[in-house]
Amino acid sequence: MEGKILVIGGAGYIGSQVNKHLNRHGFETVVFDNLSTGFRRLACYGEFFEGDLKNIEDIEKCLRKYKIKAVLDFAAFASVGESVANPAKYYRNNVVNTINLLDSLRAFNINKLIFSSTCATYGEVPPRLLTEQQPQNPVNPYGRTKWIMEMAMRDYSAAYGLNFVALRYFNAAGADPEGEVGELHNPETHLIPLVLDAASGRREYISVFGNDYKTPDGTCIRDYIHTEDLAQAHRLALEYLISGGKSAAFNLGNGNGYSVLDIIKAAECVTGRKIPMKIAGRRAGDPDFLVGSSELIKKQLGWMPQYAELEKIISHAWAWHQKN
Ligand code: UDP
Repeated sequence: MEGKILVIGGAGYIGSQVNKHLNRHGFETVVFDNLSTGFRRLACYGEFFEGDLKNIEDIEKCLRKYKIKAVLDFAAFASVGESVANPAKYYRNNVVNTINLLDSLRAFNINKLIFSSTCATYGEVPPRLLTEQQPQNPVNPYGRTKWIMEMAMRDYSAAYGLNFVALRYFNAAGADPEGEVGELHNPETHLIPLVLDAASGRREYISVFGNDYKTPDGTCIRDYIHTEDLAQAHRLALEYLISGGKSAAFNLGNGNGYSVLDIIKAAECVTGRKIPMKIAGRRAGDPDFLVGSSELIKKQLGWMPQYAELEKIISHAWAWHQKN
């Protein structure tokens, strides 16, 4: 099947890692990015097209310029706290602009899409491994925007023949094992890079958002997954769609739950530094426990994570942090 792979948001944290991985595996890619939060230097493989999903003309110009056989979409906002404070920003970009994309793909007869979804679509759940069968009942605007898009894609699938794979990431973390691409958020809101900022002295301390959750140490438990393992999953999902696979949704986590305090402790081991912390109030929209089973993608697509150990994830993030 002829054509390039369009990587929307390929100048961002996860998109840049996936774009690199796809090029390493023989795919030709075009990164489409508005550089609002991404960095041109992270889109260091394939071609680059500067454009914005809010402008249908931009997407169509790109689709006219290149023959595209499949699309991956990373161009969404992904901070839970910000989505609670500023939901309009999230509905506008993560829903309205993504519908622009779906409609443009339809106009150009492109029917293969890999969509970055999230464990935040599950919401408040019992403290056990989440499977894809768990009902989706998001508790924050970020999760709701992704859940809405999953439902929209199912409807587009039934009515217009779209084939999509929704990958429900747990907590993306780490950095390129080769140190070429990684996280450059500004402002940063995610736990591991902020903990590393506290380790390096870039910030005074890390605030722990709540220690009165229903977990053994009172802090929230999450499942951290390395971006290169996410990248492998995207490639497998792409190969699945290209070989005629139908719409599906898969979890992407390691099935290991770590609390905020576990992360701080592990980062102290990796960096060999004492990390100052302060207990702060809860952040709105945080469920206490999100840990996923990824048996389905292992079984159906043969996904095999290579960097599941927390120490590996944090040490790659630390190497990147020190270089940038
Ligand atoms: N967190 C924290 N302090 C921070 C940032 C995050 O205690 O400065 C907590 C947050 O409340 C959540 C966990 O760390 O329980 C992971 O948050 P992150 O924003 O990294 O990812 P999310 O789970 O929201 O996608």
